[in-house]
Amino acid sequence: MAAWGRLSLYCHEKLEPVFRRKPGTYPGIVMTDRYAVIGNPIEQSKSPLIHTAFARVTGQDIDYGKLLGPLGGFAQAVDAFRAAGGRGMNVTAPFKLDAFAYATDLAPSAQMAGAVNAMKFEGDRVYAENFDGVGLVRDVVHNLAFPVRGKRVLVLGAGGATRGALLPLLAEQPAELVIVNRTVAKAEEMADLARQHQSGSVPVRGVSYTDLGAQSFDVVFNATSASLTAQLPPLTASAFAPGCLAYELAYGKGLTPFLNLAQQAGVTHLADGVGMLAEQAAEAFLWWRGVRPDTKDVIRQLTVPLG
Ligand code: NDP
Repeated sequence: MAAWGRLSLYCHEKLEPVFRRKPGTYPGIVMTDRYAVIGNPIEQSKSPLIHTAFARVTGQDIDYGKLLGPLGGFAQAVDAFRAAGGRGMNVTAPFKLDAFAYATDLAPSAQMAGAVNAMKFEGDRVYAENFDGVGLVRDVVHNLAFPVRGKRVLVLGAGGATRGALLPLLAEQPAELVIVNRTVAKAEEMADLARQHQSGSVPVRGVSYTDLGAQSFDVVFNATSASLTAQLPPLTASAFAPGCLAYELAYGKGLTPFLNLAQQAGVTHLADGVGMLAEQAAEAFLWWRGVRPDTKDVIRQLTVPLG
Protein backbone atom coordinates (compact mmCIF):
# COMPACT_ATOMS: atom_id res chain seq x y z
CA MET A 1 0.00 0.00 0.00
CA ALA A 2 1.26 3.52 -0.85
CA ALA A 3 2.40 5.63 2.06
CA TRP A 4 -0.54 8.04 1.75
CA GLY A 5 -2.89 5.04 1.71
CA ARG A 6 -1.47 3.72 4.97
CA LEU A 7 -1.68 7.21 6.47
CA SER A 8 -5.28 7.55 5.40
CA LEU A 9 -6.11 4.13 6.86
CA TYR A 10 -4.35 5.09 10.10
CA CYS A 11 -6.31 8.35 10.26
CA HIS A 12 -9.57 6.51 9.67
CA GLU A 13 -9.02 3.68 12.14
CA LYS A 14 -7.05 5.38 14.89
CA LEU A 15 -7.80 9.06 14.83
CA GLU A 16 -11.41 9.31 13.75
CA PRO A 17 -12.76 7.42 16.80
CA VAL A 18 -10.53 9.62 18.96
CA PHE A 19 -11.93 12.81 17.43
CA ARG A 20 -15.46 11.56 17.97
CA ARG A 21 -14.82 11.18 21.74
CA LYS A 22 -16.16 13.65 24.27
CA PRO A 23 -13.73 16.41 25.31
CA GLY A 24 -11.63 15.27 28.23
CA THR A 25 -11.64 11.61 27.23
CA TYR A 26 -8.74 11.62 24.80
CA PRO A 27 -6.43 8.66 25.25
CA GLY A 28 -3.43 9.62 27.30
CA ILE A 29 -5.31 12.48 28.92
CA VAL A 30 -8.23 10.84 30.74
CA MET A 31 -8.68 7.07 30.48
CA THR A 32 -11.98 5.48 31.33
CA ASP A 33 -11.21 2.66 33.79
CA ARG A 34 -12.29 -0.73 32.52
CA TYR A 35 -13.95 -3.47 34.56
CA ALA A 36 -15.80 -6.64 33.56
CA VAL A 37 -17.53 -9.72 34.84
CA ILE A 38 -16.15 -13.02 33.58
CA GLY A 39 -18.17 -16.25 33.48
CA ASN A 40 -19.42 -18.98 31.16
CA PRO A 41 -22.25 -18.53 30.30
CA ILE A 42 -22.28 -14.78 30.86
CA GLU A 43 -25.30 -13.42 28.96
CA GLN A 44 -27.53 -13.69 32.06
CA SER A 45 -25.23 -11.56 34.24
CA LYS A 46 -26.76 -8.46 35.81
CA SER A 47 -23.36 -7.09 36.91
CA PRO A 48 -22.90 -4.65 33.97
CA LEU A 49 -26.34 -3.17 34.60
CA ILE A 50 -25.63 -2.86 38.33
CA HIS A 51 -22.14 -1.36 38.04
CA THR A 52 -23.14 1.01 35.26
CA ALA A 53 -25.97 2.27 37.47
CA PHE A 54 -23.57 2.62 40.41
CA ALA A 55 -21.11 4.57 38.22
CA ARG A 56 -23.88 6.91 37.08
CA VAL A 57 -25.09 7.76 40.59
CA THR A 58 -21.59 8.16 42.03
CA GLY A 59 -20.18 10.07 39.02
CA GLN A 60 -17.40 7.53 38.45
CA ASP A 61 -15.95 7.26 34.94
CA ILE A 62 -15.87 3.50 34.36
CA ASP A 63 -16.67 1.12 31.56
CA TYR A 64 -18.03 -2.26 32.76
CA GLY A 65 -18.54 -5.14 30.32
CA LYS A 66 -19.21 -8.87 30.11
CA LEU A 67 -16.50 -11.35 29.22
CA LEU A 68 -17.28 -14.88 28.12
CA GLY A 69 -14.35 -16.83 29.56
CA PRO A 70 -13.39 -19.92 27.55
CA LEU A 71 -13.65 -23.12 29.62
CA GLY A 72 -10.07 -24.04 30.50
CA GLY A 73 -8.88 -20.60 29.37
CA PHE A 74 -9.58 -18.39 32.39
CA ALA A 75 -5.98 -17.25 33.00
CA GLN A 76 -5.36 -16.31 29.36
CA ALA A 77 -8.62 -14.32 29.19
CA VAL A 78 -7.78 -12.40 32.37
CA ASP A 79 -4.17 -11.84 31.22
CA ALA A 80 -5.49 -10.29 28.00
CA PHE A 81 -7.96 -8.09 29.88
CA ARG A 82 -5.20 -6.84 32.20
CA ALA A 83 -2.83 -6.24 29.27
CA ALA A 84 -5.53 -4.07 27.68
CA GLY A 85 -5.63 -1.91 30.83
CA GLY A 86 -8.44 -3.65 32.80
CA ARG A 87 -8.55 -2.51 36.43
CA GLY A 88 -10.75 -5.15 38.04
CA MET A 89 -13.16 -8.01 37.50
CA ASN A 90 -16.08 -9.78 39.05
CA VAL A 91 -15.97 -13.53 38.72
CA THR A 92 -18.94 -15.80 38.37
CA ALA A 93 -19.53 -19.52 37.69
CA PRO A 94 -17.60 -21.59 36.83
CA PHE A 95 -14.44 -19.54 37.46
CA LYS A 96 -14.48 -18.70 41.19
CA LEU A 97 -11.90 -21.41 41.94
CA ASP A 98 -9.77 -20.47 38.92
CA ALA A 99 -9.71 -16.90 40.24
CA PHE A 100 -8.66 -18.23 43.64
CA ALA A 101 -5.69 -19.93 41.98
CA TYR A 102 -4.90 -16.90 39.78
CA ALA A 103 -4.79 -14.32 42.61
CA THR A 104 -1.51 -13.19 44.16
CA ASP A 105 -3.08 -11.67 47.30
CA LEU A 106 -6.12 -13.35 48.83
CA ALA A 107 -8.21 -11.45 51.37
CA PRO A 108 -9.37 -13.45 54.44
CA SER A 109 -12.92 -13.50 53.00
CA ALA A 110 -11.64 -15.26 49.86
CA GLN A 111 -9.46 -17.64 51.86
CA MET A 112 -12.38 -18.61 54.06
CA ALA A 113 -14.75 -19.01 51.11
CA GLY A 114 -12.13 -20.95 49.14
CA ALA A 115 -13.31 -18.92 46.16
CA VAL A 116 -12.99 -15.44 44.66
CA ASN A 117 -15.75 -13.22 43.27
CA ALA A 118 -13.87 -9.94 42.79
CA MET A 119 -10.34 -9.06 41.67
CA LYS A 120 -8.39 -5.81 41.55
CA PHE A 121 -5.32 -5.44 39.32
CA GLU A 122 -2.39 -3.25 40.37
CA GLY A 123 0.83 -3.77 38.43
CA ASP A 124 1.68 -7.44 38.72
CA ARG A 125 -0.49 -7.92 41.83
CA VAL A 126 -3.94 -9.49 41.67
CA TYR A 127 -5.89 -8.71 44.85
CA ALA A 128 -8.83 -11.01 45.44
CA GLU A 129 -11.93 -10.85 47.61
CA ASN A 130 -15.18 -12.69 48.12
CA PHE A 131 -18.05 -10.31 48.89
CA ASP A 132 -20.95 -12.78 48.68
CA GLY A 133 -21.12 -13.36 52.45
CA VAL A 134 -20.93 -9.70 53.48
CA GLY A 135 -23.46 -8.90 50.76
CA LEU A 136 -25.88 -11.45 52.19
CA VAL A 137 -25.53 -10.22 55.76
CA ARG A 138 -25.82 -6.57 54.77
CA ASP A 139 -29.01 -7.30 52.86
CA VAL A 140 -30.57 -9.11 55.82
CA VAL A 141 -29.46 -6.81 58.62
CA HIS A 142 -29.48 -3.45 56.83
CA ASN A 143 -31.96 -3.63 53.94
CA LEU A 144 -34.47 -6.04 55.49
CA ALA A 145 -33.81 -4.68 59.00
CA PHE A 146 -33.83 -8.23 60.38
CA PRO A 147 -31.11 -8.54 63.06
CA VAL A 148 -29.38 -11.93 63.26
CA ARG A 149 -27.85 -11.39 66.70
CA GLY A 150 -29.28 -13.87 69.20
CA LYS A 151 -31.29 -15.70 66.51
CA ARG A 152 -31.31 -19.41 65.69
CA VAL A 153 -30.00 -19.63 62.13
CA LEU A 154 -30.39 -22.54 59.72
CA VAL A 155 -28.48 -22.69 56.41
CA LEU A 156 -29.56 -25.24 53.80
CA GLY A 157 -26.69 -26.38 51.58
CA ALA A 158 -22.94 -26.67 52.02
CA GLY A 159 -21.61 -25.31 48.72
CA GLY A 160 -19.65 -22.19 47.83
CA ALA A 161 -22.33 -19.68 48.88
CA THR A 162 -22.64 -21.20 52.36
CA ARG A 163 -18.89 -21.32 52.80
CA GLY A 164 -18.58 -17.62 51.94
CA ALA A 165 -21.44 -16.69 54.28
CA LEU A 166 -20.18 -18.52 57.39
CA LEU A 167 -17.89 -15.91 58.95
CA PRO A 168 -20.04 -12.85 58.12
CA LEU A 169 -23.04 -14.68 59.66
CA LEU A 170 -21.09 -15.74 62.75
CA ALA A 171 -19.81 -12.18 63.20
CA GLU A 172 -23.43 -11.19 63.82
CA GLN A 173 -23.42 -13.50 66.86
CA PRO A 174 -26.50 -15.62 66.31
CA ALA A 175 -27.62 -17.92 69.17
CA GLU A 176 -26.62 -20.91 67.00
CA LEU A 177 -25.80 -21.76 63.40
CA VAL A 178 -26.91 -25.07 61.93
CA ILE A 179 -25.80 -26.18 58.46
CA VAL A 180 -27.91 -28.91 56.89
CA ASN A 181 -26.93 -30.67 53.71
CA ARG A 182 -28.02 -33.61 51.54
CA THR A 183 -24.41 -34.86 51.68
CA VAL A 184 -24.03 -34.63 55.45
CA ALA A 185 -20.23 -35.01 55.46
CA LYS A 186 -19.96 -31.65 53.66
CA ALA A 187 -22.15 -29.99 56.31
CA GLU A 188 -19.99 -31.45 59.08
CA GLU A 189 -16.81 -30.33 57.34
CA MET A 190 -18.15 -26.83 56.95
CA ALA A 191 -19.23 -26.68 60.59
CA ASP A 192 -15.68 -27.70 61.59
CA LEU A 193 -14.23 -24.96 59.40
CA ALA A 194 -16.56 -22.37 60.95
CA ARG A 195 -15.70 -23.47 64.50
CA GLN A 196 -11.97 -23.19 63.75
CA HIS A 197 -12.15 -19.72 62.20
CA GLN A 198 -14.83 -17.84 64.11
CA SER A 199 -13.64 -15.24 66.57
CA GLY A 200 -16.60 -15.79 68.95
CA SER A 201 -18.09 -18.92 70.46
CA VAL A 202 -21.35 -19.41 68.58
CA PRO A 203 -22.43 -23.09 68.63
CA VAL A 204 -22.16 -24.46 65.06
CA ARG A 205 -23.44 -27.88 63.91
CA GLY A 206 -23.45 -29.72 60.60
CA VAL A 207 -26.41 -32.11 60.28
CA SER A 208 -28.57 -34.14 57.89
CA TYR A 209 -32.16 -33.21 57.04
CA THR A 210 -33.35 -36.16 59.17
CA ASP A 211 -31.30 -34.90 62.15
CA LEU A 212 -33.22 -31.64 62.05
CA GLY A 213 -36.33 -33.37 63.43
CA ALA A 214 -38.85 -30.77 64.58
CA GLN A 215 -36.33 -28.05 65.49
CA SER A 216 -37.34 -24.57 64.42
CA PHE A 217 -35.29 -21.50 63.50
CA ASP A 218 -35.67 -17.71 63.38
CA VAL A 219 -33.80 -17.32 60.08
CA VAL A 220 -33.68 -19.99 57.36
CA PHE A 221 -31.41 -19.44 54.36
CA ASN A 222 -31.81 -21.60 51.28
CA ALA A 223 -28.22 -21.73 49.99
CA THR A 224 -28.81 -24.88 47.96
CA SER A 225 -28.97 -24.69 44.19
CA ALA A 226 -32.27 -26.64 44.27
CA SER A 227 -34.33 -23.59 43.27
CA LEU A 228 -32.42 -23.24 40.01
CA THR A 229 -34.19 -26.41 38.87
CA ALA A 230 -37.45 -25.69 40.75
CA GLN A 231 -36.71 -28.37 43.35
CA LEU A 232 -37.34 -28.34 47.08
CA PRO A 233 -34.70 -29.53 49.55
CA PRO A 234 -36.16 -32.18 51.91
CA LEU A 235 -37.13 -29.60 54.55
CA THR A 236 -40.33 -29.65 56.59
CA ALA A 237 -42.47 -26.67 57.54
CA SER A 238 -41.60 -27.16 61.22
CA ALA A 239 -38.19 -25.55 60.54
CA PHE A 240 -39.83 -22.10 60.41
CA ALA A 241 -40.36 -20.57 63.87
CA PRO A 242 -43.12 -17.97 64.27
CA GLY A 243 -41.94 -14.57 62.96
CA CYS A 244 -39.00 -16.11 61.10
CA LEU A 245 -37.30 -14.88 57.93
CA ALA A 246 -37.10 -17.29 54.98
CA TYR A 247 -34.33 -16.14 52.63
CA GLU A 248 -33.76 -17.70 49.21
CA LEU A 249 -30.25 -16.97 47.90
CA ALA A 250 -31.27 -17.54 44.28
CA TYR A 251 -32.82 -14.44 42.69
CA GLY A 252 -35.22 -13.57 39.93
CA LYS A 253 -37.15 -16.83 40.28
CA GLY A 254 -40.26 -15.47 42.02
CA LEU A 255 -41.83 -17.75 44.63
CA THR A 256 -39.48 -20.74 44.59
CA PRO A 257 -40.56 -24.11 46.09
CA PHE A 258 -38.61 -23.16 49.26
CA LEU A 259 -40.34 -19.77 49.59
CA ASN A 260 -43.65 -21.42 48.81
CA LEU A 261 -43.12 -23.94 51.63
CA ALA A 262 -42.34 -21.07 53.98
CA GLN A 263 -45.38 -19.10 52.88
CA GLN A 264 -47.63 -22.15 53.33
CA ALA A 265 -46.17 -22.45 56.86
CA GLY A 266 -47.34 -18.90 57.59
CA VAL A 267 -43.99 -17.11 57.18
CA THR A 268 -44.52 -13.49 56.19
CA HIS A 269 -40.87 -12.36 55.99
CA LEU A 270 -39.84 -13.74 52.60
CA ALA A 271 -36.85 -12.55 50.55
CA ASP A 272 -34.74 -13.65 47.63
CA GLY A 273 -31.07 -12.99 46.83
CA VAL A 274 -31.50 -9.87 44.71
CA GLY A 275 -30.43 -7.69 47.63
CA MET A 276 -27.42 -9.95 48.26
CA LEU A 277 -26.44 -9.57 44.61
CA ALA A 278 -26.68 -5.78 44.77
CA GLU A 279 -24.85 -5.56 48.10
CA GLN A 280 -21.92 -7.74 47.05
CA ALA A 281 -21.63 -5.55 43.94
CA ALA A 282 -21.68 -2.41 46.09
CA GLU A 283 -18.86 -3.85 48.23
CA ALA A 284 -16.77 -4.50 45.11
CA PHE A 285 -17.51 -1.01 43.78
CA LEU A 286 -16.40 0.51 47.10
CA TRP A 287 -13.21 -1.58 47.04
CA TRP A 288 -12.39 -0.50 43.48
CA ARG A 289 -13.51 3.12 43.51
CA GLY A 290 -13.50 4.20 47.17
CA VAL A 291 -17.17 5.20 47.13
CA ARG A 292 -20.12 3.10 48.31
CA PRO A 293 -23.16 3.39 46.04
CA ASP A 294 -26.71 3.25 47.35
CA THR A 295 -28.34 -0.01 46.25
CA LYS A 296 -32.06 0.86 46.57
CA ASP A 297 -32.67 1.76 42.91
CA VAL A 298 -30.81 -1.26 41.58
CA ILE A 299 -32.69 -3.61 43.91
CA ARG A 300 -36.01 -2.04 42.86
CA GLN A 301 -35.09 -2.40 39.19
CA LEU A 302 -34.08 -6.08 39.47
CA THR A 303 -36.76 -7.30 41.87
CA VAL A 304 -39.06 -10.01 40.57
CA PRO A 305 -42.20 -10.16 42.76
CA LEU A 306 -42.34 -13.22 45.04
CA GLY A 307 -45.68 -14.51 43.81
P1 NDP B 1 -22.96 -25.08 44.93
O1 NDP B 1 -23.13 -25.84 43.67
O2 NDP B 1 -21.60 -24.77 45.43
O3 NDP B 1 -23.70 -25.90 46.11
C1 NDP B 1 -24.99 -26.41 45.89
C2 NDP B 1 -25.57 -26.95 47.21
O4 NDP B 1 -26.94 -27.25 46.98
C3 NDP B 1 -24.90 -28.25 47.70
O5 NDP B 1 -24.82 -28.20 49.11
C4 NDP B 1 -25.91 -29.32 47.25
O6 NDP B 1 -25.93 -30.46 48.09
C5 NDP B 1 -27.20 -28.57 47.40
N1 NDP B 1 -28.30 -29.09 46.58
C6 NDP B 1 -28.41 -29.04 45.22
N2 NDP B 1 -29.59 -29.55 44.82
C7 NDP B 1 -30.24 -29.93 45.95
C8 NDP B 1 -31.51 -30.55 46.19
N3 NDP B 1 -32.35 -30.85 45.19
N4 NDP B 1 -31.87 -30.80 47.47
C9 NDP B 1 -31.03 -30.48 48.49
N5 NDP B 1 -29.82 -29.91 48.33
C10 NDP B 1 -29.42 -29.64 47.07
O7 NDP B 1 -23.85 -23.75 44.75
P2 NDP B 1 -23.55 -22.31 45.38
O8 NDP B 1 -23.28 -22.47 46.82
O9 NDP B 1 -22.60 -21.58 44.54
O10 NDP B 1 -24.99 -21.59 45.16
C11 NDP B 1 -26.09 -21.92 45.97
C12 NDP B 1 -27.24 -20.97 45.66
O11 NDP B 1 -26.89 -19.64 46.03
C13 NDP B 1 -27.66 -20.92 44.20
O12 NDP B 1 -29.07 -20.84 44.12
C14 NDP B 1 -27.05 -19.62 43.70
O13 NDP B 1 -27.77 -19.06 42.63
C15 NDP B 1 -27.19 -18.75 44.95
N6 NDP B 1 -26.23 -17.64 44.97
C16 NDP B 1 -26.73 -16.37 45.02
C17 NDP B 1 -25.90 -15.29 45.04
C18 NDP B 1 -26.48 -13.92 45.09
O14 NDP B 1 -25.74 -12.94 44.92
N7 NDP B 1 -27.77 -13.77 45.35
C19 NDP B 1 -24.42 -15.44 45.02
C20 NDP B 1 -23.98 -16.83 45.02
C21 NDP B 1 -24.87 -17.88 44.99
P3 NDP B 1 -24.86 -31.66 47.93
O15 NDP B 1 -23.61 -31.16 48.57
O16 NDP B 1 -25.48 -32.79 48.65
O17 NDP B 1 -24.72 -31.89 46.45
